[in-house]
Amino acid sequence: PEPNAMPELPEVETVVAGLRREAVGRWIESVEILRDQHLHPSGAALAEGLTGRLLTDARRWGKIWMLDTDDGQTVVGHLRMSGQLRVHPLDEPRRDHVHLVATLSDGHELRWRDVRRFGWMHLVPTAEALDLPVFANLGPDALAMTEDEFVAALRGSRRGLKALLLGQDVIAGLGNIYVDEALFRSRLHPRLAGGRLGLARARRLYGEIRAVLDEAIAARGTSISQSYRGVDGRRGAYQKQLQIYGRGGQACLVCGRELLSAQVAGRTTVWCPGCQPRR
Ligand SMILES: [Zn+2]
Repeated sequence: PEPNAMPELPEVETVVAGLRREAVGRWIESVEILRDQHLHPSGAALAEGLTGRLLTDARRWGKIWMLDTDDGQTVVGHLRMSGQLRVHPLDEPRRDHVHLVATLSDGHELRWRDVRRFGWMHLVPTAEALDLPVFANLGPDALAMTEDEFVAALRGSRRGLKALLLGQDVIAGLGNIYVDEALFRSRLHPRLAGGRLGLARARRLYGEIRAVLDEAIAARGTSISQSYRGVDGRRGAYQKQLQIYGRGGQACLVCGRELLSAQVAGRTTVWCPGCQPRR
C-alpha cells in the first residue's frame, strides 16, 4: 500500500462523530499554540477567538471538517496527509508534533497533531465559512448527493472515472482507497470515461460508492499508515475488508487474475484486467 494513505470521507466522518461525542458541548478554557503553521488567520487569532467559547457542533463536507462555536464562529479544517484531532485527559503526556491544544471544560484536551504538517485550519464567521476558496469548486458531499445528481454529473463526461471521482468537483469526499474499491465493486475500469457508462452502470457505481462508504464508516475508517486515528485514538478496521486497494500484483478475489497497478490520475491505482475491462 501507499505509505501516505490519507484520510478520506469515512475517516473524517469518524473524526467528526468523535468530536461530537468528546468535544461538542464543552467550553474551551484556553488555547495553546505550539506551532503556528497553516493556522489562519493566525495561531494567535485562533487562540483569542476560541478561548471562552462553547463548541456547539461538528460537521463535515467531503474531507473538510468544521467545528462551530456558540458565538457564530467556525473552525474549518483539513487533516490532509497525517492530521489528527484527538481528545486526551489533561495529564496524559503530549506526543511530538502536537501543534495546537484546546483545554476543554471537562478535564480533557483537544489536541491537533500533524507529523507531515500539510493539514490546516481557518477560523471564520460561520456565515462566511462556505465562502472559503476550498469550497469554491467542491461538489456535493458523497453522502448527500442523490443518484439523479450523480448520473447527471457523469453524463457526457470525457474524464476517466478515476480522475472524475478523485477530483472533488463532481463528488466530494472520495480519495484513492475508496475510488479503487468502488470501481472494482462496480466492475469498471479506472480509465473508462464517465460519459460512457450509461444509466445502469452509473447507478451501479453510485450504489457501490455509497455501500463502500457506509461499510467503511461502520468500521471507523481505514488505518493503513500510522497516521489515521479516531478522536479516541482507536484505529479504523476497514483495512481488513479492502478488496483491491494496495493489492497490485496479488490475485483478484473474484476471478484470480493478477491485479494490475499503475499511475492513473496521478495516483497509484489497482484494478483487475478480468473484472474491470476498459469498455
Ligand atoms: Zn478479477
